[in-house]
Amino acid sequence: MTLPPFDLHRPGSLEEATDLAERYGEDAAFYCGGTELLLLLKLGFASFGHLIDLKGIEELSGIRADNGDLVIGAAVTHRELERSELVRARLPALATMERGVANLRVREVGTLGGNLCFSDPHSDPATFLLTLDAEVECRRGGGPARRLPVSEFVLGPYQTCLEEGELLTAVHVPALPAGAAVAHAKFSFHERPTATVACFAHVAGSTVTEARVAVGSVGARPVRSAAAEQLLTGSAANELDDGVLAAAGERAAEDASPVDDATGSAEYKTQLVRVLVERTFRQAVE
Ligand SMILES: Cc1cc2nc3c(=O)[nH]c(=O)nc-3n(C[C@H](O)[C@H](O)[C@H](O)COP(=O)(O)OP(=O)(O)OC[C@H]3O[C@@H](n4cnc5c(N)ncnc54)[C@H](O)[C@@H]3O)c2cc1C
Repeated sequence: MTLPPFDLHRPGSLEEATDLAERYGEDAAFYCGGTELLLLLKLGFASFGHLIDLKGIEELSGIRADNGDLVIGAAVTHRELERSELVRARLPALATMERGVANLRVREVGTLGGNLCFSDPHSDPATFLLTLDAEVECRRGGGPARRLPVSEFVLGPYQTCLEEGELLTAVHVPALPAGAAVAHAKFSFHERPTATVACFAHVAGSTVTEARVAVGSVGARPVRSAAAEQLLTGSAANELDDGVLAAAGERAAEDASPVDDATGSAEYKTQLVRVLVERTFRQAVE
């Protein structure tokens, strides 16, 4: 597999990147780690005369704390997240989830922004971030930033709400409130996950006062299951009810609308979600 010829552009600012995208229009594409885009080009599934490398744009890099929240630049790699002291101290579950993404070679160059923008339905971070009510920040050139929840950013398979020439610049992950925990699990047969589940539980006294359940990779896009969350909220934290957990898994699987694809049948994925919700929610409560 060889790459077809293209002109490579290396902008140093968001303004420059947007100018290039506007100048070359449909013949141009942004890329960061290139783990998705370059593969598409090699396979002949896409063709662009101009590639715009985002790695040199300072504003897209780095991980910082902002009033307890984590702000992650779109060009931060999975490996950086996995190894970041800040992430490990503030939100160790994020580092653990990132350690399970792909293989070391992909994690070294593949970025969080690239993962979300490519919007492959078989994704770990999208499901995880959904559970945390994370938000993305997008900007076109020097224009104002717009912030929106991950749930509104990911529209479907390979589809996001990014507009022409607009970049994903950062991901804002809210701090976990005291007494809250998050857990993520996935099941894979191949390189990418067949099913991903993330659960959040906030426990006060001996009661689960807030439950969140997100399911991804099984359907067109990751979703939160309000029905499962409603069932689990109010549970006794020290004695979770098997029947309620099973019902929550059932509802979450319904809400995720599993589809048949190369990673498994809808029926099998439904069963995976049932099991993973039960297991992951228990972990979040422990
Ligand atoms: C072998 C293999 C195994 C994998 N396994 C997993 C897995 O287990 N779990 C998982 O979640 N993922 C998995 N992935 C996906 C992997 O996480 C992504 O390939 C990676 O994160 C994409 O990042 P990138 O920077 O390389 O994207 P690129 O290929 O550079 O870009 C991807 C797309 O996003 C656009 N883009 C990139 N950055 C921006 C930006 N800042 N603003 C606007 N548009 C942008 C590009 O135009 C392109 O369309 C796997 C991939 C491979 C190849």
